[in-house]
Parts: sequence; C-alpha cells; structure tokens
Amino acid sequence: MGRPVMHYSGNEPWNAARPGRRPLPPPPHGMPVRQVTYTLPPMAERQRLRHEFNKVARKAFLEWLAAHRRPQLIAAGMDEAQIDAMVRDGNAPPGWNVHHKLPLGGGGDNAMSNLVVIREAPHVALHQFLFPQIKHLQEGQSTRAFLPVPDGMIFPPPPNLKPAPAPPRRQGPTLRLAF
Ligand SMILES: [Zn+2]
Repeated sequence: MGRPVMHYSGNEPWNAARPGRRPLPPPPHGMPVRQVTYTLPPMAERQRLRHEFNKVARKAFLEWLAAHRRPQLIAAGMDEAQIDAMVRDGNAPPGWNVHHKLPLGGGGDNAMSNLVVIREAPHVALHQFLFPQIKHLQEGQSTRAFLPVPDGMIFPPPPNLKPAPAPPRRQGPTLRLAF
C-alpha cells in the first residue's frame, strides 16, 4: 500500500463559487482559507501604506519578533545570525518574506496583527491561489474572496515550545550519576 493521495477535486467551496472557471490551485498546505470582503483601495492609499511598510512597519515587526519570539524563529528554521541580520537590515532572511494577511491590495493595513513572516514557497502559493479571484478589481471595487490566512506570526508555525511536562517520579532505586 502506498501513501494515501490527497485528491483535489475542483469542487472545494472556492471552486464551486467559480462555475465554469479554471479551478484554483490548492491552498498552501495547512493554511486555513477564509471568505473575506476584498476591496481594492485607491492607488495613492496603497502607495502610502506600501511606503510605510517598506520604511517602518516591516522592520518594526521583525524587531519585535526577534525580541519576543526568538526561540520560535529558531524552531521555525532561522539561525541566530539571520535573526540579527533581520533586525539590523529590516528584511526577512533569504527564503522568508513578510506578508500582509489581508493584503494592502485588498484593504489591509500595516498593523502588526496583519503581518506574518512566512516561507517563500507557501507565500507564493498563497498569492497564486488569491490572484485569479481579485485580478479583475478596479479601484474602489469589492469582491468576496477565499483568502488563505496563515495563523500566528510565523508560518509554517514552529513546533510547540511549551516546556515538556515533568517526568513521572521514578519508582524504585534512585539512579546515581558518577562524575
Ligand atoms: Zn504576501
């Protein structure tokens, strides 16, 4: 027996909502898909937010992560030098990006709660899933879209770092270590 194959039927809710259209590629593995109202803001507003992101918000987010989530970043696969460089330069390490959970092109902002540091491959897959649904929008127009939303601030989420439960009390003789 081989491994079970995940069959992608094209009848998922996001494809059922697009009758007669090419099925969307699968969403990135493990990423929840939410239905949202996606509104394309005026160009000037998008440029203002993009500028704020490039100048301030991305660096502030990465600095916060480095200060408060360093063990999680390490568990997710970054090393100490990459985290230090991230703080210094304000950019994610190679192979990582900072993504807006609700993109700026859909009405999102630079709030820290709207940002996630994400591996490049799922990030690309996320936008490939989204783009066919929103590419027709003109400024000020809205559509309902199925949006893959990475939960948390790091994607893929690092393994749970809670301390392991205390081991059960040893029954019987105590083990002695000799040095
Ligand atoms: Zn993105």
